[in-house]
Amino acid sequence: MTLTEAQQVTMPWDGALFDGTWKAAASTVDVVAPATGQRIATVGAAGVDDLDAAVRSATEAQKTWAALTYDQRAKVFRRASALLAEDPDRLVRWLVPESGSGMGKAQFEVGLVVAELDECAGITSLPYGELLRSSKPRLSLARRVPFGVVGVISPFNFPAILSMRSVAPALAAGNAVILKPDPRTPISGGLALAELFAEAGLPAGLLHVLPAGADVGAALVAHPGVPCLSFTGSTAAGRAIGQAAGPLLKTVHLELGGNNALLVLPDADVDAAASAGAWGSFLHQGQICMTTGRHLVHASIAQEYTAKLAEKARHIPVGDPTDPANPLGPIIDERQRDKVHALVTASVEQGATLAAGGEYDGLFYRPTVLADVPKDAPAFTEEIFGPVAPVTTYETVEEALEIINSSEYGLSVAILTSDAFKAFELAAHIDSGAVHINDQTVDDEAVIPFGGVKASGVGGRFGARASLESFTEVQWVTVQSEIERYPF
Ligand code: NAD
Repeated sequence: MTLTEAQQVTMPWDGALFDGTWKAAASTVDVVAPATGQRIATVGAAGVDDLDAAVRSATEAQKTWAALTYDQRAKVFRRASALLAEDPDRLVRWLVPESGSGMGKAQFEVGLVVAELDECAGITSLPYGELLRSSKPRLSLARRVPFGVVGVISPFNFPAILSMRSVAPALAAGNAVILKPDPRTPISGGLALAELFAEAGLPAGLLHVLPAGADVGAALVAHPGVPCLSFTGSTAAGRAIGQAAGPLLKTVHLELGGNNALLVLPDADVDAAASAGAWGSFLHQGQICMTTGRHLVHASIAQEYTAKLAEKARHIPVGDPTDPANPLGPIIDERQRDKVHALVTASVEQGATLAAGGEYDGLFYRPTVLADVPKDAPAFTEEIFGPVAPVTTYETVEEALEIINSSEYGLSVAILTSDAFKAFELAAHIDSGAVHINDQTVDDEAVIPFGGVKASGVGGRFGARASLESFTEVQWVTVQSEIERYPF
């Protein structure tokens, strides 16, 4: 697939927003492929007026949607899943140029979207409450009811699944959704998903896609017609959203950054560990919240591990991801590339050794390995969001646990060892939303309760039953046959 072929495909979003149909926008934004700098599409750019109109339309449409039977709602998700499973390229062809995804990463991401849609068909039919005991002779029950309109704000890195992971369960639970994708990935993060839902028969008005920057995002957070927000992005933006939404007493789910540790115990198979470490740090150029950001390797095997990791880093092809020979593509933009390079440079100045990489050509950053990284160097303490593997040694497991838990983040940790049960015991002492034993840190499935702790997330989890809980609130209902009598 080439960019030219991608451009020949119909683009209903040309200069348009999605409000159930394609609506010409007052202004537009160019979508640029980071690998080439070429414009690949021009889409509508939303303003605050568009947001007001979207909230009005969504509020109206949601009432009818919530009143449908579960099987009527389930059909939409089944159809969307089948359409995408039959033709994954409808999304892959945008994901690759727009977000700089390698072909394999894009195909994997589309598989996650299909799985999410399948799971959401099931969410519609889950039990949605419980019968409660009562001290009175009455029916007492707690049932889950939709919020009404849910606002979704999503990032650029896995734009399709990170939008869908909020949009689909929110819809399945009976809400309408207003989605604000990152303006760098408005198609695979929103407009192409809307096209899929429209084809699958989602009634008009239930999903609105408003490509825009942080200003419209902030307006969505503040809008009085949107009681629930689902945000995936940086911890800095998450804090700003939390501060804005707090006084408004809204329900907010924040899925934020990470600085994920890979703990390599002295009994680990070093070849397999280096391969897991390379995958964890370099997949999608390290632009994943669960990217392995800290390699904690026992001193007895650190030299061998680092040499093997560096060898891999030197040989991974990096280039235009529309060429399937390149598993790694570009960093999303210059600002992010410069941030990555500044963290690498500062860490080397602080005493780390460059074992591989550390250089770039345009937006193509070479996979980088830093050895002997001081524990207070920025490459070790901060989220890099680039293809950088910082390696630090430890002597005792207690020391390793202390280093792991010293991070403000708590998204994903992995432990590599030949004694899996020992690692299972260690997991209980780790502050992290996920712990993977004998795998690397990047993993998610539609059926698990995904989410971070500490500065990596708060407010709600994703996945099957967890999603149903996140996108509904509880209503306690009591029913008795006669009016209760009172003393006055
Ligand atoms: P970002 O926070 O800058 O942007 C994410 C989205 O938020 C974009 O749509 C942006 O326009 C919007 N936004 C930014 N500031 C806002 C504000 N004040 N109010 C409302 N909306 C605002 O994120 P980024 O740097 O582009 O994305 C990468 C970050 O996302 C990394 O930190 C990564 O770890 C995190 N992330 C987390 C997860 C997770 O599941 N925990 C998944 C993917 C990415």
